[in-house]
Amino acid sequence: MNTKIITINDPAREEQSLQEAADVLRNGGLVVFPTETVYGLGGDATSADSSRKIYEAKGRPSDNPLIIHIAHPDDARRYAVTCPCYERLAKAFMPGPLTVILPRRDIIPTETTGGLDTVAVRCPSHPIAHALIQEAGVAIAAPSANRSGKPSPTCASHVIDDMDGRVDMILDGGECDIGLESTIVKIEDEDTITLLRPGAITYDALCMVVANVNVAAAVSERLGENERPLSPGMKYRHYAPDAPLVLLEGHPEDVLAYLEQEQNRIRCAILCYDEEINALSSASLHPVGKADDLASHARLLFRNLREADCSGPDVIYAHLPPKEGLGLALYNRMIRAAAHTIKHIPSR
Ligand code: AMP
Ligand code: MG
Repeated sequence: MNTKIITINDPAREEQSLQEAADVLRNGGLVVFPTETVYGLGGDATSADSSRKIYEAKGRPSDNPLIIHIAHPDDARRYAVTCPCYERLAKAFMPGPLTVILPRRDIIPTETTGGLDTVAVRCPSHPIAHALIQEAGVAIAAPSANRSGKPSPTCASHVIDDMDGRVDMILDGGECDIGLESTIVKIEDEDTITLLRPGAITYDALCMVVANVNVAAAVSERLGENERPLSPGMKYRHYAPDAPLVLLEGHPEDVLAYLEQEQNRIRCAILCYDEEINALSSASLHPVGKADDLASHARLLFRNLREADCSGPDVIYAHLPPKEGLGLALYNRMIRAAAHTIKHIPSR
């Protein structure tokens, strides 16, 4: 398949390209588009065929459900059964990086939901995503636009690496702002939700809107052998670099001393804080931003993991993020990529 790649700088001025992309979607084709979280691999959410094509292009198991993307929070009613709790969440966080699991209406085929009677709904704020969904006139089912097993793409070149020749069109809208996939919540009752996947909408932010916020165990812990996850995607091994990723925990000075020592011993790639750059030798350093700038760590995580792996290191080191605020989303992605390998560096 020949993949058409179109750069869009200003969606308001590039209506023709967006119309072309929307036509591809309406005709059952696949279009990769940028969102504020990561790039999405989109198809018509109401078409079983389109959803099958998405799984095929990604190389993803078809029991792993897709998120459907809508142009306006109210459009959820067409595809799902909404409730006052949804309305409250939508008012607070949509458009934006929040996905809500709701009972599915029949217009959404089970191919899209991995056989479930629920559907995951999100209203992205990215202007290109918004314009594309609006133009298509239908919800767009879209998982992250990586090949299964690779980190989610946060720029068009990562999408091209994974998807060139496998999709009809790629819309290049530059770098994604947030860099981690959306927060996913399931509504249990009017006052209770369960956090299934942490993202830029934090636990604390959710608590401001809903009285009871449960956190699924799989968010920060390893799932037992025979445990069934609340969210099917949680059971899949997420991106693991070829080189083992080891997360370091300890006093910043001790961790830095350990990194200096390891650089002399083995070939290691390091996701380091900006403050550490001068102390370390420059080979295979991947700066993540200032130590306290979690938004920067999030934006650069998937890029850094892709790039760190490229140099073929013996090991990749990164700092264990805190579990608070946006840190929980980083923690969730990083412990998966590291297969839960955390090394505590003792004080000297
Ligand atoms: P991705 O599209 O790569 O961001 O992953 C989407 C994730 O959303 C899946 O892996 C599931 O874990 C989750 N998800 C989607 N739909 C549902 C649903 N109906 N119930 C529970 N989790 C869902
Ligand atoms: Mg994904």
